[in-house]
Amino acid sequence: MSPEEFRQHGHRVIDWIAEYLTNPSAHPVLARTRPGEVAAALPSSPPTDGEEFDAILQDLDDILLPGITHWNHPAFFAYFGISGSMPGILAEAIAAALNVNAMLWRTSPAATELEEVAVDWLRQLLGLPNDFRGHIQDTASTSTLVALASAREATGLDIRERGLAGRDVPPLRVYCSEEAHSSVEKAAITLGIGRESVRKIRTDDEFRMIPRALEEAIEIDRSAGDRPFCIVATLGTTSTTSVDPLPQLAAVARRFGLWLHVDAAYGGAAAVVPEIRDVTRGWEQADSIVVNPHKWLFVPIDCSTLFLRDPEITRRAFTLVPDYLQTPQGESVTNLMDYGHALGRRFRALKLWTTLRYFGESGLAARLREHIDLARAFAADVRRDPDWRVEAPVPFSTVCFRFTPPGLGDADTDALNERILEAVNATGEVFLSHTRLNGRYTLRLAVGNIRTEAGHVRDAWRLLRDAARNEQPRQ
Ligand code: PLP
Repeated sequence: MSPEEFRQHGHRVIDWIAEYLTNPSAHPVLARTRPGEVAAALPSSPPTDGEEFDAILQDLDDILLPGITHWNHPAFFAYFGISGSMPGILAEAIAAALNVNAMLWRTSPAATELEEVAVDWLRQLLGLPNDFRGHIQDTASTSTLVALASAREATGLDIRERGLAGRDVPPLRVYCSEEAHSSVEKAAITLGIGRESVRKIRTDDEFRMIPRALEEAIEIDRSAGDRPFCIVATLGTTSTTSVDPLPQLAAVARRFGLWLHVDAAYGGAAAVVPEIRDVTRGWEQADSIVVNPHKWLFVPIDCSTLFLRDPEITRRAFTLVPDYLQTPQGESVTNLMDYGHALGRRFRALKLWTTLRYFGESGLAARLREHIDLARAFAADVRRDPDWRVEAPVPFSTVCFRFTPPGLGDADTDALNERILEAVNATGEVFLSHTRLNGRYTLRLAVGNIRTEAGHVRDAWRLLRDAARNEQPRQ
């Protein structure tokens, strides 16, 4: 592609993106594609000769776009909403153009140093003490994996060198609540600790880990000769966004000498809003904390930040420098490849820095505050209707709720809510997801996209009530 052709196609691509972002509501939020439909519309073999760029863009419109679920749609309320904000998208384009691999300081000093600066800006925005140092990973799942590997390194059992199998080491145990994200178990699987070693601690009636139950579980494991090594607390659980009692859990971690990792992948962002920052109280005592700017801070996916109290432990867990990666700077500089298992690293710092800089503290806080207000207004609507129930507290911007008309048993109410969700999502106007709370099928509305306004949330409530009215006669 010549520079002139690049310019022409580039302008078209930017126009395409601008058009798309101006009106994402032109598309059904949830893709209506049947499994296999997209693949069937594509040639099964690559072209022998290169094709025109225009033909590629045409297939984007005709084949791919109908198979996209629009996470940038303002009525995307499923899972946790994310946003490709415009400044973040432009930064991604520049990162793609530079195409640097920030594995070593010298393979792009600016990428490494910008990452250190941008992550430290985020630390300050979150009100974390300055003894935390952070870096960027792709996802919270990777951040938690790296945190658990660091905790394992801190045991002094030298598992990095000697492994776990065929030697005299006790079973390692990690503790999280029954509401913790599956990434904790996946980390245990990957690290060879095993799923059974993840002890799921009971939660209270607001879905928060019970510190006394945690202590009991640790004591039982210790008396069986096992080796407890890590507690994972969650600040903003995936189902209800509940917050584990961090100060108490930190005290337990201290008492037993365990690593404390805080999974604040979604909820941590709320610390940017001064009036609700108190919800994070206690996280400053953690050994590691994950916050995902790609979840609720408007940075395009993927961008997860892992804050470490002692990055040297993580470096010890991972550093391995073959001859071909040695540099004249040696250990006098930060080589980001030392802080995880991946060698190659994208220039993710550019989109984090651009987004933080473009919105500023006040801009980020204003948008998060708005999302929290929208969720609270939705919860208030639900509470006002006697046939609906809010099923969990709403500390952030996510509401768990259910249609509970009188006279129906649990199983019928579950089935009814499932049908309501299907009907609402089939409209293409909104997309909500579900969870199970105390065994009951529960609907979830999570506000997180930068383009969401009050009208979108009101529409969701109208569609839900319409669907409930239409579904009821079947009872
Ligand atoms: N932790 C929590 C609390 C989450 O809700 C999620 C995903 O929603 C994750 C971790 C995993 O995030 P990621 O997709 O970045 O791995």
